[in-house]
Amino acid sequence: MLIDVADVSKRYPQPHLANPPAAVENISFSIAAGEFVCILGPSGCGKSTLLNLIAGFLAPDRGSIQFAGKPVTGPEPQRGVVFQEATLFPWLNIRRNVELGLKAAGTDRERRQKLVDESLALVGLHASRYAYPHQLSGGMKQRVALARVLALKPRLLLMDEPFSALDADTREHLQDQLLKICASRRQTVLFVTHSVEEAAYLADRVITMRPPPTSLYSEIRIHRKQPRRRNAKELTMTILRLRSLLKGLSRC
Ligand code: ADP
Repeated sequence: MLIDVADVSKRYPQPHLANPPAAVENISFSIAAGEFVCILGPSGCGKSTLLNLIAGFLAPDRGSIQFAGKPVTGPEPQRGVVFQEATLFPWLNIRRNVELGLKAAGTDRERRQKLVDESLALVGLHASRYAYPHQLSGGMKQRVALARVLALKPRLLLMDEPFSALDADTREHLQDQLLKICASRRQTVLFVTHSVEEAAYLADRVITMRPPPTSLYSEIRIHRKQPRRRNAKELTMTILRLRSLLKGLSRC
C-alpha cells in the first residue's frame, strides 16, 4: 500500500478546554498505488485535518500514518498538495511560479525547464507560460497550482477541495483534465470534497466521513465503464447511493 492510516485521532489544543473535541477519531484506511480515492463528508467533519495529517503538516495524537512503508514525519515533495485557493506569487510569471518547488528541491536548471514545460503542457497552459497571475482566471490559477505540484512528480497527489471555488463549467473541465492526467501518469490521488457529484464522478473509491465523537465512516468502490460519462445511468446510481449513505451516517 502507498498510504496506510491506522487508528488515527487528532485534537486541536484549545486555550480554555482541558479536553478539546476530536477533529478526527480512530480513522483507518489504506490507499494502493494508482487509486483515486475521494474523502467525502459535510463541512467540519475532519476532511482537511485528515489530509493535513497525511501531508505531514500535522502530527496525529494517536495512531500512525505510513507512506510507502515509512512513517510520515513531515511534508515532502513525494506528497504534493493542491489547496482550494492557488497561492501564486504575483510578481513571478507562470513558468517561474511552477519552477519554485523544483528550485527548492535542488533540481538543476536544465531538468527544471524540462519538467516545468512538461507539467504546463499537461494542464494545457504551455501557451500562457509567460503570463502573470493577475492575467489568469480562477480556473487557470488552479491549473498552475496543479502544474507546480505535478512538476515534482509526486507519488501521492493530495487535493483539498481544489475546484470548489470555481464556477460549474470550469469545475467540470478541470475534473476531466485531472482524470486524463491521472490516467496518463497512473497518478495516485487523495481528493477531499463535500460534493457527492464530484466524488461519484472522480473516484475509484469513496470514503465517507462524519463528525466525531463517533469515528464511523464507510467506503464504496465504484466500478464504472470507461470512458466516464456525466449523463451515465451508473453515475446517477452512485450519486443516489452516496446520498443515502451520508444520510444514514448522520442518523447514527
Ligand atoms: P472539514 O475539512 O471536513 O471541513 P476540518 O478538518 O477543517 O473539517 O475541521 C474539523 C474540526 O476541527 C472542526 O470542528 C474545526 O472547527 C476544527 N478545526 C479545524 N482546524 C482547526 C484549527 N486550526 N484549530 C482548532 N480547531 C480546528
